[in-house]
Amino acid sequence: MSPNEWIKDTAIYQPGKPLEEVKRELGLTEVIKMASNENPWGCSKEVWSKGVSHPEDTPFYPEGAAPDLTEKIAEHIETDPSRILLGNGTDEIVKMLAQVYLKPGKNAIMADFTFPRYEMVTKMTGADIVKVPLSDGCHDLKEMENRINADTQIVWICNPNNPTGTIVDRVTIESFLERIPPHVLVVMDEAYQEYVTHPDYPDTIALIDYNPQVIALRTFSKIYGLASFRIGYAVAHPSVIQMLNRVRDPFNTNRYAQSAALHALTDQTFVLYCRNQNRLGMKQITSQLEKWDLSYYPSQANFILIHTGFAGDDVFNHLLRAGIIVRSGQVLGYPTSIRVTIGTKEQNELFLQAFAAFLKEKGKI
Ligand SMILES: *Cc1c(COP(=O)(O)O)cnc(C)c1O
Repeated sequence: MSPNEWIKDTAIYQPGKPLEEVKRELGLTEVIKMASNENPWGCSKEVWSKGVSHPEDTPFYPEGAAPDLTEKIAEHIETDPSRILLGNGTDEIVKMLAQVYLKPGKNAIMADFTFPRYEMVTKMTGADIVKVPLSDGCHDLKEMENRINADTQIVWICNPNNPTGTIVDRVTIESFLERIPPHVLVVMDEAYQEYVTHPDYPDTIALIDYNPQVIALRTFSKIYGLASFRIGYAVAHPSVIQMLNRVRDPFNTNRYAQSAALHALTDQTFVLYCRNQNRLGMKQITSQLEKWDLSYYPSQANFILIHTGFAGDDVFNHLLRAGIIVRSGQVLGYPTSIRVTIGTKEQNELFLQAFAAFLKEKGKI
């Protein structure tokens, strides 16, 4: 048996540490997870009161293309249903894009550092990976454009970027799209779009109306609080959607996920509440960081990359013993940083206290 070379070289994805594992290993009962950008307010009440019911349907396959949910999303983002594709999480769509557009000899351009799945799925196809360093935590679109060649198939843009939380603004993306050649697909991963409050954030759905080169990825895992259901969607020109449908597994989204997402969409009050609470939580954390003279990237998402001045793993381990799971920057390309998901007011306070204890121990404050 000989696996493909490029598969042997692909790293196995390292997720944030699960709650259950930390409780077991450290014998803790109270653990707070601020590691995977999940929603600390859970999900809309609509999901469990109306969405996840009808156990009698369990033996039956769902509708593969999820027409009801597709219709509802189209209405919500004001586009045509033919421009929407659902995935088993956005992660699945990222992989489908690689399957459809990449192969050995072709290449995909991405930031260094960004969401690790782009690199992994590119590698799985045997295509070349072109990494363009972030400039002060932001995508460097000028340099990404310079690196495009005849074999470039995809440019991955994570907006806001994970792990830095920075955004590419409307003017920058529009002028980038005007200059790049027509054979390149630009993937705008907008997993955190609903959290953004910046006035210059691009309206990608409107861009897609007249630009078949752009695809937007959105998810129900983050602000909608449905990560365990695994459901996300892509918005693109119908010609791109039709290609993705060719590699889509027949029943890629299950009936409970479809129904949960449908009901979650109807509760925009919940979404608004989470966005506002997130902004307040962000302020709560950044104002303390400023008092401590610690730097961070300005984030439009529900997480923040904090430059601690100490090994990220050390900070991570210290916080873990206090029952707080964050993400060490060491696996994210920022060895002396930590990435922290914004929690509830109380969770943020507990994080700040535990972090303060670490900084005191090190003589930083
Ligand atoms: C969380 C995340 C996703 C994955 O979302 P799923 O829909 O849960 O697969 C995609 N892109 C980025 C940048 C993310 O942070």
